[in-house]
Amino acid sequence: MQLRIGNGYDIHRLVPGRALILGGQRLEHPAGLGLDGHSDADVLVHAIMDALLGALSLGDIGLYFPPDDQQWQGADSLELLEQVVALVMERGWSVVNVDSVLVAERPKLKPHIASMRSAIAARMGLAADQVGVKATTNEQLGAEGREEGISCHAVVLLQKP
Ligand code: MG
Repeated sequence: MQLRIGNGYDIHRLVPGRALILGGQRLEHPAGLGLDGHSDADVLVHAIMDALLGALSLGDIGLYFPPDDQQWQGADSLELLEQVVALVMERGWSVVNVDSVLVAERPKLKPHIASMRSAIAARMGLAADQVGVKATTNEQLGAEGREEGISCHAVVLLQKP
C-alpha cells in the first residue's frame, strides 16, 4: 500500500458585510464580520483542498480555481472540494483521514464543529470520524488574535492499494 500526506493552510480577512462560512456552515460573528474572498472564503475547506492537492503534488487551489476567473465568484467551496476529491480518486487514491485546526478569536466554534465535520465528510464521501476539525483562539496575538482574519491549517493522509 502506498501512502501520501498533504499539508494545507489558508487565511482570509474578516470584513463587515460578508457572510462567515466555515465548513459550509453559516455562522454569526458577534461583530457582524464575515470572511472576504472571491469564493465564499471558507478557509477550512480551502485548507483541506490544498492539503489534498499537496499530497499528490498537484499544485494548489489557485491553479484550479483562479481568483481572477469569474466562474468561481461566490463559489460554494464544498462544491470545489468535491471536484478536488474527484481529482484524487481519479488517480486511484482514497482519503484515510483529514485533520484541521481553525484559528479564530470569535465566534465560539465549538457548537458548530459537529456540523462542519458532517458537511465536509459528506462531500468527501467519508465518515464523520475521518474528518477532524478543531478550533483554537490565537490568545489575542497576531492577525487572528486582532480579528483581522481567520486562518486554518489542515493535513490529509491518502492511501492507494
Ligand atoms: Mg482561500
